[in-house]
Amino acid sequence: MRPYRIISVLFIILLIAFDIAYFTRGISFWWAAALLLIYIHLLVLGAIYIQWNFYIKSYNRGDKPKLVALTFDDGPGQETAAILDILKKHEVQAAFFSIGKNAAVQPELVKRWHDEGHVTGNHSYDHGFNFDWQSSRKMAAEIKKTNETIKAITGQVPRLFRPPYGVTNPNLARAVKRLDMASIGWNVRSFDTTAKDPQQLLERILGKLKGGDIILLHDSMPVTREILTELIVLTRQKGFTFARIDQLLDIEAYA
Ligand SMILES: [Zn+2]
Repeated sequence: MRPYRIISVLFIILLIAFDIAYFTRGISFWWAAALLLIYIHLLVLGAIYIQWNFYIKSYNRGDKPKLVALTFDDGPGQETAAILDILKKHEVQAAFFSIGKNAAVQPELVKRWHDEGHVTGNHSYDHGFNFDWQSSRKMAAEIKKTNETIKAITGQVPRLFRPPYGVTNPNLARAVKRLDMASIGWNVRSFDTTAKDPQQLLERILGKLKGGDIILLHDSMPVTREILTELIVLTRQKGFTFARIDQLLDIEAYA
């Protein structure tokens, strides 16, 4: 049972206990308000932190002590070609969680990363702010549209789905289950989309590295391209080997 179900059941039990205490002992109404506040707070945190596996079980890290995996979200974008050049030069294979509408505009980049041995994952079609407010049917339709776009380019249907912004909820859990896909999170968040200082970004990632890490990056960001060579070299110097996410996790990347 997922944590949100356990917490919901617990919340209902405590609410019943409150009702009894309220009518028999006259305890303060504020106990119920506090209970509700804690419950809502947990639901929100569970949605934000994909690592909690609160609504859906996601793959957030591997268990191979010498391997780490690079993942790039939101592409294909302005830095994808340069990032592919660097990966090729250093013989690193990664995963690209593609936004469907971007894949439709620059299919040649999707084809290129596929041909160069990288994995293609699904990262929704529009990546809109309203993605998580949709019904599970609409979410599934959007995810499926991306799968079809990618299949038309590479001939393969992705099985790996990374939720936009890493936000999950019960509807998303149902959509992913309906499509028989695997939810992919991360355990090393680079914050490259907001990074100002490349050196700081590099140190933030390297400082957190352990075996089995899934590193979240974006091939839309110039700063990511800037640090990538050093990130690869220094990660190897620390004794880690780069693996593709499907190899790190021992799962199938395609349906
Ligand atoms: Zn994204």
